Amino acid sequence: MVELSIELGSVLLLAFGLKGLAKIRTARTANGLAALAICLAVVGLLLQQGLGGWPWMLLGLGIGGGLGAVLALRVAMTSMPETVALFNGCGGMSSLLVAIGAVQLPTPLNLVGQVSVLVSVLVGAITFSGSLVAMGKLQEWLGTPGWTLRPQRHAVNILLAVACLVCCVLVLKGMAVALILLTVLSLLLGVGLTLPVGGADMPVVISLLNSYSGVAAAAAGFVVGSELLIVAGAMVGAAGLILTQVMCTAMNRSLTSVLFGGALGAGSSEPGDGAGGREEYTNVTSCSPEECALTLEAAERVIFVPGYGLAVAQAQHSLKELARLLEQHGIEVRYAIHPVAGRMPGHMNVLLAEADVPYDQLVEMDDINPDFPRTDVVIVLGANDVVNPRAKSDPASPLYGMPVLEVDQARTVFVVKRSLGSGYAGIRNDLFELPQTSMVFGDAKQVLQSLLQELRSLGVGKVAVGAGNTR
Ligand code: NAP
Repeated sequence: MVELSIELGSVLLLAFGLKGLAKIRTARTANGLAALAICLAVVGLLLQQGLGGWPWMLLGLGIGGGLGAVLALRVAMTSMPETVALFNGCGGMSSLLVAIGAVQLPTPLNLVGQVSVLVSVLVGAITFSGSLVAMGKLQEWLGTPGWTLRPQRHAVNILLAVACLVCCVLVLKGMAVALILLTVLSLLLGVGLTLPVGGADMPVVISLLNSYSGVAAAAAGFVVGSELLIVAGAMVGAAGLILTQVMCTAMNRSLTSVLFGGALGAGSSEPGDGAGGREEYTNVTSCSPEECALTLEAAERVIFVPGYGLAVAQAQHSLKELARLLEQHGIEVRYAIHPVAGRMPGHMNVLLAEADVPYDQLVEMDDINPDFPRTDVVIVLGANDVVNPRAKSDPASPLYGMPVLEVDQARTVFVVKRSLGSGYAGIRNDLFELPQTSMVFGDAKQVLQSLLQELRSLGVGKVAVGAGNTR
């Protein structure tokens, strides 16, 4: 009875945790709730199974928990997709090992158990090898070999998939050795499916692999008869699938083209490949932080557009300080959040939350787009693709159709970045040449600090609005 209550309690906590993760305000607590749910589940399992194997469990908890904690503390926010890929891979491998372990037990498995073992092994192995390849590609340890882009790769993958299915049948017929073959072939299939995917699409694939790791875990739950694992795995599977769909929509990519299309826009798929570089621009205006500060001082409404470069520069605290200064001067400040700004969903929300930017100032793309025409100044900070008007005007562009922040509608736009280099999609940005745009070249943090200095020297923020600001 106690074990059942604990199990039910952890399932409920997990469900509330997942629900809470959908909102910025509740995400931190929700994360804690989900972690608590898993701790409870471990306690429940120990009570159910007895404490016989506890030294092994403690050893596993120590090694796994220690590695996880070190990794979580050391990893930079910009490397989070690689970390998530690694965690997904570990999830897939665990399910695979649980399934293989269950087969070794003296008690024979019924048909449901056997099918669950096969699903765990197949999906777990694909998740493991696919996630490692995804991580390697994001870290730029692995490229996209030319041969993986040939149409014949589909035939190879189909052959591997068919061979996997044949192995499944053989296992069901009692040929135990086919399980090993299934493991090897599934590992190869994971590599074959992930290797051709372009860097720009990789985070979508990681989200999909996250969903696979949930499916593998749910199947492992059937193998060991753990309702909690089934529920948790199913939730992860469904959540990963929904996130994949959301990311595909935000990037205007269909899942089929991500999975089977190979590298996005040949030659432009790898992050930072420099295509669309500075030589393509002929009519760019640039200005100093001093000139930018003068325009800012006279503005009434300002919108900041954070992007990947803001995360690279770790400039979120300087940004918050600048926003506070402008607000003290009576200027309305908001932040425009694009769903795929940065390198992972919610990247900008997390970054700005780190600097305690008030949640109500973060405005989603669909809500803020109509406001750009009545905005005096937009400051684009290390964002590129998510503000590229080409996504609306150039059908040949890989970004075409992706909804973007319509900053080109604002009266004045300052783009803060280090060069005229391209963003993730590797294409030129028409925004840089618009008459209302001025580039402010430099590292985002340095530029923001210079702006703060300039504004302070102009006396901005010295007099509180309510205390006699003359604006
Ligand atoms: P972006 O298009 O990748 O552009 C980032 C810009 O930041 C670069 O052009 C770079 O220009 C600049 N930058 C880098 N370091 C900087 C620094 N220290 N200071 C100032 N600027 C710096 O970024 P984005 O506009 O955020 O767009 C995100 C891209 O990632 C989209 O293409 C999106 O589809 C893709 N993506 C996102 C997700 C997600 O979940 N968020 C998932 C998959 C793909 P310089 O080198 O000239 O400074």
